[in-house]
Amino acid sequence: MLAEIISVGTELLLGQIVDTNAAYLSKLLPEFGIDLHYRVTVGDNEERLTEALRQALSRSDIVFTIGGLGPTEDDITRETVAKVVGDAMVLDEEAAEHMRSFFAARGIRMPETNFKQAMVPRRGRKLANPLGTAPGAVFETDDGKAVIVLPGPPGEFVPMVNECVTLYLRERFGQASGIIKSRVLRIAGLGESSVEEIVKPLLSSRNPTVAPLASVGEVRLRITAKASGPEEAEKMLDDMDQKLVAKLGNSVFGRDEETLEQVVVRLLIERGLRLGIAESCTGGLIANRITDVPGCSTTFLAGVVSYSNKAKQDILGVPEHLLIEHGAVSEEVARAMAEGVRKVARADIGISVTGIAGPSGGTPEKPVGLVYMALASDKGTVAYRHRFMGSRKDIKWRSSQAALDMLRLSLI
Ligand code: ATP
Ligand code: MG
Repeated sequence: MLAEIISVGTELLLGQIVDTNAAYLSKLLPEFGIDLHYRVTVGDNEERLTEALRQALSRSDIVFTIGGLGPTEDDITRETVAKVVGDAMVLDEEAAEHMRSFFAARGIRMPETNFKQAMVPRRGRKLANPLGTAPGAVFETDDGKAVIVLPGPPGEFVPMVNECVTLYLRERFGQASGIIKSRVLRIAGLGESSVEEIVKPLLSSRNPTVAPLASVGEVRLRITAKASGPEEAEKMLDDMDQKLVAKLGNSVFGRDEETLEQVVVRLLIERGLRLGIAESCTGGLIANRITDVPGCSTTFLAGVVSYSNKAKQDILGVPEHLLIEHGAVSEEVARAMAEGVRKVARADIGISVTGIAGPSGGTPEKPVGLVYMALASDKGTVAYRHRFMGSRKDIKWRSSQAALDMLRLSLI
């Protein structure tokens, strides 16, 4: 089964928005054994969309379109698809009613042009839009191909894909001969080349395959298994997962969508420990990441952005002589900051970060990217020295990543 995605929108061509919808859909298709061979982007132009649709139907079995379902003049996808597949559009009473009540509930008058959105294919079927007004649609061609028409706003697109499109695909292609499943192992504290070296023999595995992907402060390994059924695929993923963990040990902090901050918050809650954070060069980034995790209030007590030396002294009680003798970016000050925040926040664990994010401010002894961090607990205080590379933003991110990982490793 071959698929193609056509993203419709001049904004996409101009680079004003990024095609997150197509990426979302692309990730999902392998689960249905559907191979995606082409992704095409066209502007809001009837002629070019017609051409793209004709070409897609000549080489693919399922075509997805994204965007251009709205009520305005430049939203032409639905009508153009109908013309290309030779179907007629009819008003769907249920969709029209859904739209009327959608507007009534918000106390606004519905413009007449909106009824255009309640038009559905005569031969195909509509896809409900739980979170918006315009329904999506499935058009079916005489030779058994399908064009699945989806809305552009991600808040409508994602629920429609999750709820309606997967149902349709399962119904139509559920018996497909093979499925592909993947899992991502997430790794902190090791660079891409170190990870590759450690797992080298496994990278040449044919099924499942293992592919490294690196981003700032993190390496991911994507395991992809092809199997005849979901249980078999899952088993293959489990086996490879175990082999990789046997080599990488506790550098693997999570899987798939699980973030480092989620893991840290979960561990802190499990251990019944409360956290205080003192940040200098990361400017609150660590506290921000921790507070991205729902439920963190049971463990996170306070974060202090002690940027100036004076704040380090006044708020955290860092002794002045340490700042004078060793400078703000030093192991001694990192230790005093972690101990200080543990005390003022009345926390079980205090962590701290102090460093030089650049691009200026570096010296031969203390270059840009030099970062000290410390962790204070009832077991005492430990400190680490790092040298990070990259832009100011990268150095801040890498520092937050290393600090969260230092905390994670102290909890396992
Ligand atoms: P509307 O009813 O809002 O007009 P629509 O189905 O006609 O919806 P578009 O007009 O193409 O969709 O896009 C509406 C908005 O949805 C865009 O401004 C953009 O913010 C977002 N969007 C559209 N296509 C994509 C895409 N492929 N990926 C991510 N966001 C998108
Ligand atoms: Mg639109």
